[in-house]
Amino acid sequence: MRNVFLSICLMALCFSAQAQPTTEAKLQDEVFELIDLDTPAMKDVKSFYEKGNTRKAAEALLKYYKDRTGICTPDIRDVSKVKISEQHQKWADDALEHKFFVMDSYKEPFHYGDDINWRYWPVQDNELRWQLHRQKWFIPMGKAYRISGDEKYAIEWTKQYVDWIRKNPLVKIEKGEYEITDNSTLKDDAENARWAWRPLEASTRLQDQTQQFQLFISSPAFTAEFLTEFLLNYHFHAEHVMGNYSSHGNHLLFQAQRMLYAGTFFPEFKRAKAWRESGVQIMNTEIGKQVYADGGHYELCPHYHLASINIFIKALNVAALNGFRNEFPQSYIDTIEKMIMLHADISYPDYTHPYFSDARILKKSEMLKNYRNWSRLFPENQAIKYWATEGKEGMLPDHLSKGYLNTGFFTFRNSWANEGIQMVVKAGPPAFWHNQPDNGTFEIWYNGKVLFQDSGAYVYGGGEEIMQWRNWFRRTASHNTLTFGDRDIQKMDSKTLLWQPEGDVQILVTENQSYTYMAHRRSIFFVDGKYFVIVDEATGKADGWVNLHYQMPPGKTTGVRDDMHFHTDMTDGCNMKLQVFGPEGIGMKMEEGWVSTDIMKKRKRINANFHAKKTANEPIRFITVIVPKEEPGDGPAISASFIDDYTGNSMKLEVKVGKEKKVLEYKL
Ligand code: MG
Repeated sequence: MRNVFLSICLMALCFSAQAQPTTEAKLQDEVFELIDLDTPAMKDVKSFYEKGNTRKAAEALLKYYKDRTGICTPDIRDVSKVKISEQHQKWADDALEHKFFVMDSYKEPFHYGDDINWRYWPVQDNELRWQLHRQKWFIPMGKAYRISGDEKYAIEWTKQYVDWIRKNPLVKIEKGEYEITDNSTLKDDAENARWAWRPLEASTRLQDQTQQFQLFISSPAFTAEFLTEFLLNYHFHAEHVMGNYSSHGNHLLFQAQRMLYAGTFFPEFKRAKAWRESGVQIMNTEIGKQVYADGGHYELCPHYHLASINIFIKALNVAALNGFRNEFPQSYIDTIEKMIMLHADISYPDYTHPYFSDARILKKSEMLKNYRNWSRLFPENQAIKYWATEGKEGMLPDHLSKGYLNTGFFTFRNSWANEGIQMVVKAGPPAFWHNQPDNGTFEIWYNGKVLFQDSGAYVYGGGEEIMQWRNWFRRTASHNTLTFGDRDIQKMDSKTLLWQPEGDVQILVTENQSYTYMAHRRSIFFVDGKYFVIVDEATGKADGWVNLHYQMPPGKTTGVRDDMHFHTDMTDGCNMKLQVFGPEGIGMKMEEGWVSTDIMKKRKRINANFHAKKTANEPIRFITVIVPKEEPGDGPAISASFIDDYTGNSMKLEVKVGKEKKVLEYKL
């Protein structure tokens, strides 16, 4: 028989009481070993504990916490002033019946059973399983309790809190994971722990439980027994997160920022100082690693860029509130300001941002709240003030078009106004998890709406069917860029060859060695602040079909093969005409396209696929003209042709839109 090495760590030894699932809180003696009892405030606790009277010690500890003042989170500075939204009130009330709000994508909460089944997984979407363990309804229950004074919320919260501990032990089977056949409970627990104890979720609880503590501590249901359960569980969480930091990326930022919370909010623990120091140290290191010199977050995803700004600020606020802001240098604060300005430059006049990478819907109300917070931190910044006040105070930046060359985000703009034209291009360096293989892709804003919107993310991961969708939304061919035979690009490392953000003709030239045998150079001209001309060149040994993809707006869109054009017939004043002038033998297919605004939401549209055959070592070139326009219909006559001999280092072409003729050129 094979020597199977099973290392089963029941790390949660303290949770061994799980054998009898009960929601009754029990006195957990171990807690007194974790708290520094040698401080004057702990005199009574220590005295009872040393006499072996843990019950009295717990009561003394509870009294200490009920009386404690001076420590707060930036989330709740004064519990007497908490407010609750209608939505959160509903989450709180639903939770009383074990109907838990998990994610926005599942508006109607699922019922997790009278005897709560924390392993219930009604839709095989990984996020649904993970995010259940973020316990998003707990803080709303706390607010509902504070506002109504109704003990039912506090009683139910303590029960669910303990129930979660009993039913979600941290069981790790380090080796031979699937070779245990004689203990299915252990196997189930280990499988469940992958969801319940993912460090990101554990860190969310670490943060949110500080608020729950603030909101519920005054309740009679918050008993001495419950306090020991809470503190033991909390300590266990902090150690788990600290021992299992993600190696990089936004998860690590979240985890570190939450360690700061833990170390600050419960300074009574012997380990609190180590937690806090670990958090501060990681935040200071990671801001240097994860943010490029131009202020772009290295996952190249607007959603996580924004989340990172707020994590950095949250850490700073906790520090400021509790007297250790000086542990963050000025460079940390300057970097946050650069990140905000980058986000503003790629954002649209309605405060939303491109759906590049795993980004999704963003609400103006959320952004206004962000800007108001940011303006408090950067009161001198007139642009931030302008956006915070919707233009009532402050001033717009003194530039229109703007490039962030380290991050590879470029914005062409003719105005900051709603009626303006704006193109945001993504052509950056290799990046991390939330990035998608989409170098050269873009979105266009015109007259209140986004054209050529990025397909988005739809889902992050899950079962087989979910993964098929994930891959569809991620793949290169679902973007506005060029592929070899519809395949995903192999390399994502765009180089900026030219960036000219001023003048009548503004130019970006970016090149990516998309495949081992094929490079893609994209030249974009923003002409007279009115229309765009895109030249795509594929060079190298590659021999076969080259495909140029454009994601058409959902709604009334017409494609005409005769002259390779698309136009829209919308009644909202936001239309466009796109026409491609390709090499000999160019063809056009209308394929299935989608755009996703949020997780598990999608809308159908056309993915236009222009294709032509490339011969080895011969370059192939396409010209695309995109004219945003107010009126529906097929719009102005367009023509475009090269007037240079191909050299690879220069370009000259003539474009005619309606009656206006323009010569576009550059030399590298
Ligand atoms: Mg995308």
